Amino acid sequence: MPLQITLPGQNAGGKVVGIDLGTTNSLVAYVEFGEAKVIPGRDGGLVPSVVTLDDYGNVTAVGVAAKRRALVDAGHTVYSVKRLMGKSYSDVQKESGMLSYKLVPREEGLVRITIGGKEYTPIELSGFVLAELKERAEKYFDEPVSKAVITVPAYFNDAQRQATKDAGRLAGLDVLRIINEPTAAALAYGLDRKKNGTFAVFDLGGGTFDISILKLTDGVFEVLSTNGDTYLGGDDIDRRLMELFLSQITRIEPGFTPSPEELQQIRLEAERAKIALSSAHSFTVDLNFTQKNIVYKRNLTRGEVEMVARPVLERTKKPCLEAMKDAGLTPKDIEEVVLVGGATRMPAVKELVHELFHKKPHDSLNPDETVALGAAIQANVLSGGGQDILLLDVTPLSLGIETIGGMMSTIIPRNTTIPTKAQENYTTFADNQTGVIVNVFQGERDLVKDNRHLASFTLKGIPPLPAGAAKVEVNFLIDADGILHVSAKEVYTGIESQIEVKPSYGLSDEEIERMLRESIQFAKQDIAVRKLTESKTEGERVVAATEKVLGQIRRGDVKIAPEKMQTLNINQMIDALYALKKSLAGEDAKEIGDNLSALEHATEPLAHEIMNASVSEALSGKAVEEVS
Ligand code: AMP
Repeated sequence: MPLQITLPGQNAGGKVVGIDLGTTNSLVAYVEFGEAKVIPGRDGGLVPSVVTLDDYGNVTAVGVAAKRRALVDAGHTVYSVKRLMGKSYSDVQKESGMLSYKLVPREEGLVRITIGGKEYTPIELSGFVLAELKERAEKYFDEPVSKAVITVPAYFNDAQRQATKDAGRLAGLDVLRIINEPTAAALAYGLDRKKNGTFAVFDLGGGTFDISILKLTDGVFEVLSTNGDTYLGGDDIDRRLMELFLSQITRIEPGFTPSPEELQQIRLEAERAKIALSSAHSFTVDLNFTQKNIVYKRNLTRGEVEMVARPVLERTKKPCLEAMKDAGLTPKDIEEVVLVGGATRMPAVKELVHELFHKKPHDSLNPDETVALGAAIQANVLSGGGQDILLLDVTPLSLGIETIGGMMSTIIPRNTTIPTKAQENYTTFADNQTGVIVNVFQGERDLVKDNRHLASFTLKGIPPLPAGAAKVEVNFLIDADGILHVSAKEVYTGIESQIEVKPSYGLSDEEIERMLRESIQFAKQDIAVRKLTESKTEGERVVAATEKVLGQIRRGDVKIAPEKMQTLNINQMIDALYALKKSLAGEDAKEIGDNLSALEHATEPLAHEIMNASVSEALSGKAVEEVS
């Protein structure tokens, strides 16, 4: 039987779908006859990111059906798990009060959720949503679907991206690419057809806010800067409305303490009111707690919702201004603004964006579908069905390794466009050092103790050589999904060791923000510490080298003619050596520097003499290494 031939670029393994895995809703899309389309189910395109499980770990409902169950079976129904992806319990503790499901209060590792006495990770729960989307696509095409492109907020760090990829794997999907939601949105609006331009993508969804400044140069997209808040979205407006309703209900019924089901009922009504008031000007809130014989009915106006929403919407301003500042741009440099996310349907949001960027934003596409459509366009490219578009994202924090003295040696600076790779050369600090520990850190501070430790590994088997003679190449590669691969290689022997950095849980935006803030706040202090550490390291190296040579002279390993010895002023050298050693015990970088120069000056004639001796010994057949 002839083998099937696969041409380059041709999709060899079935359809590739684009998935927007949202906090509130998820969608699956596909490009058909050159047009990106959301794949509909019985209840429309959106699949609420909600899962219901029974006490035995069986999934009883996903999507619309689960959202309905949320009312009557709150303890078994999970929503907004995207907020918990790649996070620890302490990262999300402040959330737990407002969730109707329980988080396991455990300090170590990833946060877990208890449903019916069983524990689940957010990865597993997202996996159930992805499996539902996969099934939806399979029904639509009537064939298996096993490959996908999944979008994540631009602010997601390595751990969160990895968690999303793992969720895909659990759902039986090969995740070909993780792309940023705003970048996908730009593709959906066909901004790539403009060839050149600078755009802003304002994405206010249910649970996350992202602002990205994109630059398009000759058809190549580059993310100039990103900013945002993974704890900001339409859900926050619902929560504030919910608090308003609750406070008014308890004013009428002071003893009212809502059950989880009643909390859900209030939450859903708050959202219904908010959505209705994006088109209508007034809405009747109607809550009926039949078992407690309580009815809460009132008229709510758009103006009132806007007032409740104002503090939430105001919080989008700072990230926008910072993103423009980071990109070195002002509103007049941004040519077009794109709106994404269900919450941008609010007229108040459109006005705020108009005001911020001095121009009317694009809102012609359904803001719920935009990201999924862009993911589908990227999926189509990966399956060989479209022109290749380059998507370039940036690293939110610098990445590097620890060097002697606990210093951070940055290999990939923050805001570098990914995918990217960089290489730095290092050497050994001690004589005969046969291994180096590579400690990988993330952050902007000069000392690694102030940054975040990501991973460690050891490179063993370096041949015994004098300090500084071995050459260790350290390579950093960040792939298109934002995952870091680190390798270290000793150049002469070729021995190599590597690691893929998958931190057990990631940084919250607050932490990233704090790390950036501190790097500015402590910049002066860091420079001083760096100077002191560097001069101490250099001082210790020179002391060790000088003592080694003096020992060799004393033992006669290095032979210097007695008449030459007179001219070398060994005593002055020893004095300078002790002065340097003394200052190394202190904290004065300048004093260390001065003593270092003095010692180097004092050892110059000896160094010259040794070099001459080495050369003549080498000429007489003795290897240089044996002498030095
Ligand atoms: P997304 O995460 O993009 O699916 O956005 C979901 C958020 O958009 C939720 O908070 C919804 O309540 C909100 N949303 C959807 N439609 C509207 C609307 N017409 N007006 C205001 N908010 C909306």
